[in-house]
Amino acid sequence: MASGFFKIPQPINEPVKDYSINSPEREEVLATYKSLYSQQVQVPLYIGDSKVVTKQQKNMFPPHDHQHCVGSYSIADQDHIEKAIEASLQARTSWASMDWEQRAAIFLKAADLIAGPYRSKINAATMIAQSKTIHQAEIDAACEFIDFLTFNVQFMSEIYSEQPISSEGVWNRLEYRPLEGFVYVVSPFNFTAIAGNLCASAALMGNVVVWKPSDHQVYSAQVIMGIFKEAGLPDGVINMVMGDPEMITNTVLSNADFSGIHFTGSTHVFKNIWGKIGANIQQYKTYPRIVGETGGKDFIVAHPSANSKVVSTAIVRGAFEFQGQKCSAASRVYLPESIANEVIENVKKDIASIRIGSPENFENFITAVIHEASFDKLTAVIDQVKHDNNAEIVAGGTYDKSQGYFIYPTVILTKDPHYYTMETELFGPVVTIYIYPDNEWEKTLKLIDNTSEYALTGAVISSDRSAIATATKLLVNAAGNFYINDKPTGAVVGQQPFGGARASGTNDKAGSKLNLLRWVSPRLLKETLVPPTDYRYPFLGE
Ligand code: NAD
Repeated sequence: MASGFFKIPQPINEPVKDYSINSPEREEVLATYKSLYSQQVQVPLYIGDSKVVTKQQKNMFPPHDHQHCVGSYSIADQDHIEKAIEASLQARTSWASMDWEQRAAIFLKAADLIAGPYRSKINAATMIAQSKTIHQAEIDAACEFIDFLTFNVQFMSEIYSEQPISSEGVWNRLEYRPLEGFVYVVSPFNFTAIAGNLCASAALMGNVVVWKPSDHQVYSAQVIMGIFKEAGLPDGVINMVMGDPEMITNTVLSNADFSGIHFTGSTHVFKNIWGKIGANIQQYKTYPRIVGETGGKDFIVAHPSANSKVVSTAIVRGAFEFQGQKCSAASRVYLPESIANEVIENVKKDIASIRIGSPENFENFITAVIHEASFDKLTAVIDQVKHDNNAEIVAGGTYDKSQGYFIYPTVILTKDPHYYTMETELFGPVVTIYIYPDNEWEKTLKLIDNTSEYALTGAVISSDRSAIATATKLLVNAAGNFYINDKPTGAVVGQQPFGGARASGTNDKAGSKLNLLRWVSPRLLKETLVPPTDYRYPFLGE
């Protein structure tokens, strides 16, 4: 039992290592990468205290080398899912009643394990599974994940210390109970940190979890589970299951103890899940919390006052890093005609210098897209543009899947601001530019606001303060994360809480107190110190 109001170690953002030539971290991560690459792992289901290896297995291949098998993972059937739910509910009582500082210590230890002994392993696994360059792996799997864990402990302590006032003779207290039941986590392929945080944020607040990672992130997901276990997470608190997403989701959502979903992925999948929850609402013991961060069609808009180099750098970094597979990646750009040619020429020059290939070669700025379906979808778009009259490819447009799913950074120029690549999320290294007349700033901002169903990230680039002010006002609902004179990617935990509205999600801001509040169901305790003994109020006197 706690006998002190414990102070949290002050979180600071994990410094990003630079992996420059001859640095010790570069040698270490390359050695780890090589060693993992030459082995095969078998990833089990994690159900309670068991690691279940099933008969049905699926092989894992790095996207940049799709004939090289790095292992396999187990596929669950319905019975496994039911067992995972059961295991979570069995773990619930002791986990929910564990003193908060013990839960905090487990996740702080996980953060320190990632910062130290597991850094090269989780980075190398992310390079292999998701084809991230070392820089992209470091800012995701190491730094962002560590920040989620340490800052969330701080946010938890702030939430717990928010208490109601008390009046004379009364003591009011708020307990931030976990949800009654279990939380279902469904995570995307693109960030190891997101996968870990979707589970850890709910569990930190005392919840138990059934986690279904993306098929394309299982390889790095097993590293996360290993770290949580080594940090002392009790069996059954987070259960990891893989398999048919429909079957797993239907089984979970038909369980009466389902108390919430923490989802990140595409909009149509989330809407489909929301519909199923609605259809099942009569059978749940509690109204489930529904938290989902979903797709984006993120913009950069440059004002005529913008520096063309600032704009082109924001485009190249914002659109092409990690092959454009960040939910926040810039994918539609609005340039004023006075600087458009200069910006496009700068982008072309930058693209000509970009190297593409395996993340093992540190000269490569971009590597492969995640899987063949994504490659085929993106190349079909590129081919379509080549045939269309109202759009043209001004850079890139080539691709090759002989060894890995490589697509060269591609820039489309369109005369139609509603051309489909200005509106549809493509999730690849493809960006579309529309050129507007210099004197139509406000009209262009309104166009941006009305063009897409999404509202995740956006950036305005200008050196004119009144233009920035107008954009900030007119685009108030167009992005949950709005950047001024920057690229629209790269949110840092504790600094830029992340999330969008409209079709981009419930905007519960990962990496902030707002998110953690979704995983508690407060109980108010009112204690009267000396209770009355007579029902009569003074006004009843004669
Ligand atoms: P995805 O929607 O294909 O998959 C996400 C998860 O949903 C995976 O675990 C997948 O197995 C599961 N899933 C797929 N079909 C399902 C079904 N029918 N029922 C239940 N679960 C199902 O997304 P992805 O390709 O892994 O990730 C890319 C998407 O995620 C993009 O749309 C991107 O914008 C979005 N994303 C958003 C954010 C954000 O913070 N807003 C962050 C990262 C990614």
